[in-house]
Amino acid sequence: MDEFLITKIEAWPISLPLREPFVVATGTMSVADNVFIRLQLQSGICGLGEMAPFPDISGETQAGCLDVFRTVAPLLLGQSVLQWRRLAHELAEATSVVPSVRCGLETALLDAFARAINVPLWALWGGADVRVRETDVTLAIGAIEPVLKTAEQWFTRGFRVFKMKVGQDVDKDIRRVEAVWRAFPRVSFVIDGNQGFTAKEALDFLRAISRLHVPVILFEQPVSRDDWDGLLEVHRQSAIPIAADESVRSFSDARRLIEADGVDVINIKITKCGVRESLDIVNLVRRAGLDLMIGGMVESRVAMGCSFSLVLGLGGFEFIDLDMPLLLTHDPAKGGYRYEGCRLYPWASAGLGQELDTDQSSFCVIS
Ligand SMILES: [Mg+2]
Repeated sequence: MDEFLITKIEAWPISLPLREPFVVATGTMSVADNVFIRLQLQSGICGLGEMAPFPDISGETQAGCLDVFRTVAPLLLGQSVLQWRRLAHELAEATSVVPSVRCGLETALLDAFARAINVPLWALWGGADVRVRETDVTLAIGAIEPVLKTAEQWFTRGFRVFKMKVGQDVDKDIRRVEAVWRAFPRVSFVIDGNQGFTAKEALDFLRAISRLHVPVILFEQPVSRDDWDGLLEVHRQSAIPIAADESVRSFSDARRLIEADGVDVINIKITKCGVRESLDIVNLVRRAGLDLMIGGMVESRVAMGCSFSLVLGLGGFEFIDLDMPLLLTHDPAKGGYRYEGCRLYPWASAGLGQELDTDQSSFCVIS
């Protein structure tokens, strides 16, 4: 079984520019400064992973991720990917405050494992529902005219669910959502507050939107992640389903929120707590009878391919928000799942099925 032993792990920083500045309630990003990982087994088989820190949302940075990587990656050397769940648990203990690193290393472990046994990553989760899926597309906060122009481009490409970022200014948010809806009356909307509102502002927003009859199918993270009373209040009074994103960054967050009957939907992101803990949260959400959403940070198809594998392998995700690689100026990966308009097509090759350029001079090698 020596072929499954981990012999080398490399990480290198990568800058992924966005087509347009990504403005959300808590900040702006023009370039995603991420980190790619390549983890090699004794057999020579490699797995890929990606860390996608979003400083204004999670407080993580590229430099911080690389520092933590240097500290924790040696824990994996000489270990077997056959025990990926144990290794993921150890990583969680060692990197509790830097979930991007867990996400990147766990993805690389799982990709290497799936490639070593020659199955697509989604097969590891059971292949529950391997079909083409449709994603929403995100419209960041901005002035009405440019947002309408961007919306037009996505609509032409076939997108019919717009995820609109709000949370900086209630009146402007209402006017912008209304303008997009009037221009594209056949589209439905997911609204993401990214913690920007107070409960009162969120309820004012919801009242205005319902008076206008805008077809909103979900309202994500209206209030600050620690404002549980506010979240519960919005949930109690809202006719539209409420989703928790930033409020659920761990299994215990999810359990607490479900016990408090605080939301209808939980947004699963492997960048918030790694893959293993995300799997545990998915089970919990299902047992509670709530709906599942899946999303990500500003990331390439490497991290997002792992998230898509959960959709295909586990099934049952009601809300799919896997558009981020489309918002980047270029795609650093080849192979794996592909986009056609709003559709994501499953892949059949082993692991993530993706390759990254190998002429990168690696920044950090652990062997
Ligand atoms: Mg969100």
